[in-house]
Amino acid sequence: MVNINKAKQKLEQEEAQLELELTDIGHLHNAAVGNWDGSAGDLKVGTEDENVLADKFEEITTNEAIVNELEERLLNVKKALEKIEAGTYGICEKCGAEIEEERLEANPAATLCFACAQEEE
Ligand SMILES: [Zn+2]
Repeated sequence: MVNINKAKQKLEQEEAQLELELTDIGHLHNAAVGNWDGSAGDLKVGTEDENVLADKFEEITTNEAIVNELEERLLNVKKALEKIEAGTYGICEKCGAEIEEERLEANPAATLCFACAQEEE
């Protein structure tokens, strides 16, 4: 049996960390979007400007990808914490078997057992 208290502690730590990272990147992200809007108004089409805009656009896209990934991880962490409260933590969402202890040690927010996770990929 997996140690629930230890898992909960790890999950709460990760939740706090993710929320912190999201706040940081979220602010950067909004700033980047603001700059983009501001510079688009007096845009003169030339190769130099295009390169600058392309860089900026890339930066926004990268931030968005990171934010999406962080949000997904945060969601999984929150789900795992809810399961601890509900007493269903460590149960595979697909087949209902107990998720391997070492799997939960590596990722306390895992929702599938090893076999089901392999199938999903
Ligand atoms: Zn399973």
